[in-house]
Amino acid sequence: MARYIFIIGGVMSGIGKGITTASVARILKSKGFRATCVKIDPYLNVDAGTMNPIEHGEVFVTEDGMECDQDIGNYERFLDENIFAQNYMTSGSVYLSVINRERALGYGGKCVETVPHIPEEVIRRLQNAAAKTKADFVLVEIGGTAGEYQNLVFFEAARMLKLRDPQGVIFILVSYFPIPKLMGEMKTKPTQYAVRVLNSAGIQPDFIMARAEMPLDEPRKRKLSVFCNMHPEDIISAPDILNIYQAPLNFEKDKIGHKILAKFGLHEKKNDLADWARMFRRSQHAKKEVRIGIVGKYFGTGKFTLSDSYISVIESIKHAAWEQGARPEIHWLDGESYEKDRRKMAKELGGMDGIIVPGGFGARAIEGKIRAIEYARESLKPFLGICYGMQLAVVEFARNVAGMPGANTTEVNSKTKYPVIDVMADQKEKYLKKDLGGTMRLGAYNCKLKEGTIACRAYKTTKISERHRHRYEFNNALKEVLESKGLVASGVNPESGLVEIIELRKHPFFLGTQFHPEFKSRPLNPHPLFREFIKASLKNKVKKNDKTHAK
Ligand code: GLN
Repeated sequence: MARYIFIIGGVMSGIGKGITTASVARILKSKGFRATCVKIDPYLNVDAGTMNPIEHGEVFVTEDGMECDQDIGNYERFLDENIFAQNYMTSGSVYLSVINRERALGYGGKCVETVPHIPEEVIRRLQNAAAKTKADFVLVEIGGTAGEYQNLVFFEAARMLKLRDPQGVIFILVSYFPIPKLMGEMKTKPTQYAVRVLNSAGIQPDFIMARAEMPLDEPRKRKLSVFCNMHPEDIISAPDILNIYQAPLNFEKDKIGHKILAKFGLHEKKNDLADWARMFRRSQHAKKEVRIGIVGKYFGTGKFTLSDSYISVIESIKHAAWEQGARPEIHWLDGESYEKDRRKMAKELGGMDGIIVPGGFGARAIEGKIRAIEYARESLKPFLGICYGMQLAVVEFARNVAGMPGANTTEVNSKTKYPVIDVMADQKEKYLKKDLGGTMRLGAYNCKLKEGTIACRAYKTTKISERHRHRYEFNNALKEVLESKGLVASGVNPESGLVEIIELRKHPFFLGTQFHPEFKSRPLNPHPLFREFIKASLKNKVKKNDKTHAK
């Protein structure tokens, strides 16, 4: 029988519930148990696929093609295991299945109500996730914070589950402790209120993770203990950290794993965070720097952070760089500005050791990105193009090398004479019918690599599988002529014949992938393409330094 650990937020969002969930899962794994994580998002979108990454952050994609919240990416990175679609739900998806069941007379003529039918559907899904993963522990992160209207029905599900199995469910409240500047003192009252709100939903936290700028001191632990009805040792200090991968190590200093197991009457079977600690140490000791420029369009968006839109790309760069003993310095470069100002582009890109053009949609900034790719090709700078970045690399090559003026992707210009990137017929149909949610080419597809290519050398095999999220594809009708001009289609889908990787010879590292390698990079297992890209970038840096010395 699986045990359930619910992770709930207090006071405000964005304080690391996802990292806490992933860290506790990693810790339980290190103690010899099977742990898995489920994310519940309280909004009505059926999945994250239709959401704007500027507002919501990156859309992560699972092996089986679920478009979900970026937290699933953190779970995968921390657990070093794949998480599948059954481990993600939104209010929208839960209501949709209840309503569809009602339409099929699945409730036998009963009145179908928010409670109990919605929480029952939530519990059914949690049990399904537990069964499919054969997990000893299912960690369930409930999005939002205690006191919101939207997530109440999920608290209700947690409470009902606990009622059925009082020994099998615990609650962790991840709460925020402000230190107002004028007072200079850490305040516990907001968290006391959060606990009250939870109590009124029938939930008593078993642990509080105290997120704050500083560690929580003993007097405050004692106070919380009295007001929140908890043992002081169950209130865990979780001060800010600069590197998320430190979290499991910090939590273990407080013996959180041992304490959680004790609540369930269990003992650890082993204790092995050594790999993790080694990885973290390597990240701390990395001295040489590698400067990676990411040319994107998500800029000037007011208060929203760009970095959240590309979180998996950033993490992949870090994993690969640390493995090479390097400290990544990531620069956000505004592709749109390159459309007007080539000199600025040359100056900015000239200072980078490697250039990435990541995924994206629509026409904005693409001419600037194409220029950046041209620069990378001509200046022999290591280049990694991901999804849209690969498609634009094909456009650049077609225009500037293969003699196809005005070549384009039909996403931007449907009338181009050279549609080197084009939409597949089935995708066109979906688009016209406005059947847009969850209908891109999504999830894992096979890819066969050509021997002797950069890709094959990186993966050290010819058979791979990678995750996708796009509607447009390399146009095979123009493949022969592009190849005759020097473009190498180094990875092809063996079933459909679609081109999945392109690269150039006579360049130290110029490679584009139709898939998203960033979804499969893990801190303990960096992705082979990021690894080779970072290695090439480090080599490029050495050369640059040599030149300066020679002067
Ligand atoms: N816009 C492109 C497509 O739909 C690329 C998508 C992406 O980069 N994820 O094919």
